[in-house]
Amino acid sequence: MKMKTLNIALVAHDHKKDALIDWAKYNLEMLKPHNLYATGTTGKLLEAELGIAVNKMQSGPLGGDLQLGAMISKGEIDLLVFFWDPLEAQPHDPDIKALLRIAVVWNIPVACNRASADYIISSNLMSEDYSRELPDYTDYNNRMNKSG
Ligand code: PGA
Repeated sequence: MKMKTLNIALVAHDHKKDALIDWAKYNLEMLKPHNLYATGTTGKLLEAELGIAVNKMQSGPLGGDLQLGAMISKGEIDLLVFFWDPLEAQPHDPDIKALLRIAVVWNIPVACNRASADYIISSNLMSEDYSRELPDYTDYNNRMNKSG
């Protein structure tokens, strides 16, 4: 099977960090050929626990989610694994929403829990040629706001 290198973003909230590390350890060989990006603390933990290089953004609450979001909007991220915590309020809730929203805007695959991450990482599309459909925002970009 032909290998291709993807840019994979990994983010976990504090109570989900163990779960993400566990998942990443289990899938280490699958992750190794790819370029990994992460929010600051998640990235440090991944490097320490897995001994792999991770491109680290700011910590999430300090802007890391937004940095990853910016990369997504520039077409620089192919897959987002984001174990967010559904049981605890986060100070950077708007940033979390922004990251999840921009991932949908640009049609990248997103896994928010282990089952989804397992499905995605074991998909043949991880290694096959797959061109995700890029939404055409030409009309949106060319619109003129006539209401103001
Ligand atoms: P962290 O950020 O990896 O720096 O803890 C995660 C998050 O977005 O909350």
